[in-house]
Amino acid sequence: MSEPAKAVVSLNSGSSSIKFGVYRLDAEHRPIHSAGGKFEKIGIAPSLRIATDTGEVLLEKSWSDGAGLTHADLLDFLFDWAHDHVEPHSIAAIGHRVVHGGTRFVTPQRVTPDLLDELETLAPLAPLHQPHNLVAIRTLQRLAPDLPQVACFDTAFHHARPEVATRMAIPRELHASGIRRYGFHGLSYEYIARKLAQIDPVLASGRVIAAHLGNGASLCAMLGGRSVDTTMGFTALDGLMMGTRCGQLDPGVVLHLQRQMGYSAEAVEAMLYKHSGLLGVSGISSDMRVLEADPSAAAKEAIELFTYRAAREAGALAACLEGLDGLVFTAGIGENAPAVRQAICQRLAWLGITLDEAANAAGAPVISTPESRVTVRVLPTDEERMIALHTVRLLTGA
Ligand code: ADP
Repeated sequence: MSEPAKAVVSLNSGSSSIKFGVYRLDAEHRPIHSAGGKFEKIGIAPSLRIATDTGEVLLEKSWSDGAGLTHADLLDFLFDWAHDHVEPHSIAAIGHRVVHGGTRFVTPQRVTPDLLDELETLAPLAPLHQPHNLVAIRTLQRLAPDLPQVACFDTAFHHARPEVATRMAIPRELHASGIRRYGFHGLSYEYIARKLAQIDPVLASGRVIAAHLGNGASLCAMLGGRSVDTTMGFTALDGLMMGTRCGQLDPGVVLHLQRQMGYSAEAVEAMLYKHSGLLGVSGISSDMRVLEADPSAAAKEAIELFTYRAAREAGALAACLEGLDGLVFTAGIGENAPAVRQAICQRLAWLGITLDEAANAAGAPVISTPESRVTVRVLPTDEERMIALHTVRLLTGA
């Protein structure tokens, strides 16, 4: 990529949605956001919205009879659009979020056939994500075989944690075989650490818990911008209660389900990943907006458990950090649900958090009072930008 007129596309592919960002590179190879958006309801009635950073909508489209459209069809459509959009720049590379890099891939990697084969072996460890991440890579290999692709791993940011944080109390040989706590949401946490260093360098140099609360949810304890521990473990099931995932669970429950209740391994997997969390506890929805609008006791119970578990795990991470200077909320719920932030902060008042209720209700960047011992911030995450930065860095050395 020696000429300046290049662009990169970041892809974050899930089972029924694909988020993406389109970036033009400036003369110093810095990615400048040009457009971003999301395909939703893939497999049912796909829709697409593309907008700029400032909210200008560039394209809105839905395919009402598009249940048969595959990820490949939609990516094909996107790349046609993106080629036209970035002109006179040309797309020089594609970066992908890949959830699991295992023990081996702790930095972004250029995609090769061997890399893809290895990443396939990790798919059972992230069944909701990894297969869809890899489908997008294989699809782009078919659509644009000469275009370099880069895999950016959610596990990578947690790679340098102290060894003790990576272990489960299981036999040594199992740890050696790779059964260890990896941690996820790393691209989001890396972005938060980077952004915090720009806007609040003093806080960024201290003891911070970042709370990524979306459909998937986790916490990361950061010291000086580096991950020292996180709530997710071997898979993205552990830790907090999530939209449809259970979070921390006594492993005896799994044995009970299989031995006493006759669950197959597939049924256990479906229960843990798809039927638990906010959806399972409420019996209503996995969507926080729906639950907040629902007056039932079951919806309230689900939200209470969500905030209780988040506060409980935050207390544990504060112990890992030996104190706390900052708490940063991010992702769909963290950025947009003041009542959830308030409930979590109330439970953490003992750590020295005093919430500014008006600032919290308004979604201000700082939502703690000036007297609060712990600074509480709301900071929108941007995994697509992090993918673009890694992709450019790997391909240009910039
Ligand atoms: P994903 O993990 O799929 O990227 P998001 O980060 O988009 O998920 O988060 C989705 C969650 O954010 C959903 O539970 C949704 O209800 C919640 N959310 C989004 N906007 C709001 C809002 N205004 N109030 C409450 N919850 C919200």
